[in-house]
Amino acid sequence: MPFLTPDDYLGSVERIDPSALVEQGFGIVLLDIDNTLVPRDTRRLPAGVARWVARLREEGLRVCLLSNNWHRVVFDYARELDLPLVHRAMKPAPFAYMRALRKMGRRRGEKVVCVGDQIVTDVWGAHLLGLKAILVEPQATKDLWYTQLFRRFERRLMHGRRPRV
Ligand SMILES: [Mg+2]
Repeated sequence: MPFLTPDDYLGSVERIDPSALVEQGFGIVLLDIDNTLVPRDTRRLPAGVARWVARLREEGLRVCLLSNNWHRVVFDYARELDLPLVHRAMKPAPFAYMRALRKMGRRRGEKVVCVGDQIVTDVWGAHLLGLKAILVEPQATKDLWYTQLFRRFERRLMHGRRPRV
C-alpha cells in the first residue's frame, strides 16, 4: 500500500541529515512530537533532538510542529524549541497539514517532508497531501493504548522492515 509506505525509515530524527534535506530540495519540515521528538516515558526533550532541530533551521529549513496531542505540554515543547505549533491536528486528516503549510508560507510546488513515528497518522496524512514522509522508530515503547493497537497493525504493514540507519 503505497499510501502507507514511508519514503524512508530511520532509527531516530537525529539520523536525518538536515543538509541532505536541503540538497533534495525540501523547504519545509513538519515534525510530530510524541515519540518522534520526545519519548513518551521520560517526557523530556533530549538535548540531541533540540540540537538537531537547531541544525534544521541553520540550514534554512522552515520547521513546524504538527501534533495530534491536545494537552498543554505540547506548548511547552514548542516554546523550548522556539517553533510554531499546530496541535489537535487529527492526523491523518489533511486540515491541520494545510494550516501548518499556510503558517509556513509554503510556496507553490515547494517540497515538504513530514517526520513521525506512526504510519496511520504521520505517513498516511503526509501522503494524502502528496508530501514526503519519513518514519522514525518510536522513541519509547510506552504509548497510548490505542496507539499500541495501531502499532500491531503497523508492524504488519512494514513486513519486518527495519530502519535503514
Ligand atoms: Mg507520534
